[in-house]
Amino acid sequence: MTDRVDADTAEALADRVESGDLRLYELDDHADADTAAAARRLVVERDSGAELETTGEYAFPAEQAAGSNIENMIGAAQIPMGVAGPVTIDGGAFEGETYLPLATTEGALLASVNRGLSVIDDAGGATARVTKQGMTRAPVFRTSGIAESQALAEWARENTDRLREAAESTTSHGKLLDVTPYVVGDNVFLRFRYDTADAMGMNMVTIATGEACDVIERETDASLVALSGNLCTDKKPAAINAVEGRGRSVTAEATLPREFVEETLKTTPEAIAEVNTRKNLIGSAKAGSLGFNAQVANVVAAMYLATGQDAAQVVEGSNGIVSVEAREDGLYAAVSLASIEVGTVGGGTKLPTQAEGLDVLGIRGGGDPAGSNADALAECVATGALAGELSLLSALASRNLSSAHAELGR
Ligand code: NAP
Repeated sequence: MTDRVDADTAEALADRVESGDLRLYELDDHADADTAAAARRLVVERDSGAELETTGEYAFPAEQAAGSNIENMIGAAQIPMGVAGPVTIDGGAFEGETYLPLATTEGALLASVNRGLSVIDDAGGATARVTKQGMTRAPVFRTSGIAESQALAEWARENTDRLREAAESTTSHGKLLDVTPYVVGDNVFLRFRYDTADAMGMNMVTIATGEACDVIERETDASLVALSGNLCTDKKPAAINAVEGRGRSVTAEATLPREFVEETLKTTPEAIAEVNTRKNLIGSAKAGSLGFNAQVANVVAAMYLATGQDAAQVVEGSNGIVSVEAREDGLYAAVSLASIEVGTVGGGTKLPTQAEGLDVLGIRGGGDPAGSNADALAECVATGALAGELSLLSALASRNLSSAHAELGR
């Protein structure tokens, strides 16, 4: 907040940075977080000619953000937030009617999701379930060759309980579910998978896996090369997440009566199913895509930003398959998202506007039972994604339909 800034101190600190006496990251040791951020803005303004007045207008406690969410803070990048809905969700964890909060700069996105949610709600709402849960970390070990690699993989299978004891000694919420070895020559990757309750869990599982790696290095001849060996796989497009899942694997579905499709979406179940097959399934297959959907990433990104999730995990969040079937009485549609990595505690969820985003859904903080709030968030994201798909697929289908009508002269 700008009224918390000590302007003279900020000016003096900016001068010291420019003279080489201080570095940008050292400013927090010489002033409160608001003043340190103001000093950095001055340095950057002088250097670039940019005016950072709006960047300096923020409503969260700077000490909190600088303490756990960002380094070298200069202010905030504000993103417009809106809501779509309400929609009724019959979930394994989420039950009831809610608005979905979405933060974006992409015009038309909320209108599109809103249209989809409206037709889903009119048809009785969405059904959603989390079908698999587990956050992963996969360290890579060096061995002397394939014989030792094979022995290490076997050792890990036989000693999972010892690894579990070490890993779980670092956390009161995390539970080690399994350890899957992958061998590549003199490399062994051990993919640790955890129940992380209501946390997205990346910090939790990294710390826990580090403790388990100490046991492996003590008890075997293998050497740890990296705590993350990229077989996890975090924030990179990877088939393993699409196949095995990461975070939450979640599906939302709805059945729309034929007259709703015709009257509200201005198309037919058959036309939507054809667009889904030719575009989302065949087109994606031909492209080698991991996402068999139209715009899942749009909804995942906007809901992640609105609720304090790690935005880079939209990469995995877009691993979604859309199934559509035209039935005699209407349209069945489902979106299955393999790797939705979300939490309602930790990370960015503690910041005020992000926590308010979770409040819109009624799921801020730890759930009862533990893990139920993060499950509920995954179900809400999947429902939003389903709405986005229905809206876009029907827009494409109705255009096809209207051009077909035009060609047919009716
Ligand atoms: P975190 O903020 O580091 O930790 C969350 C902690 O909250 C848990 O470890 C747990 O403590 C505690 N907790 C309290 N109530 C809980 C509940 N009901 N369920 C689960 N935990 C509860 O968050 P994180 O989710 O582990 O990690 C997310 C952060 O990691 C994000 O900021 C993300 O950007 C960052 N990140 C880190 C890496 C990495 O490699 N380190 C990679 C990607 C992202 P106890 O463990 O003591 O039970």
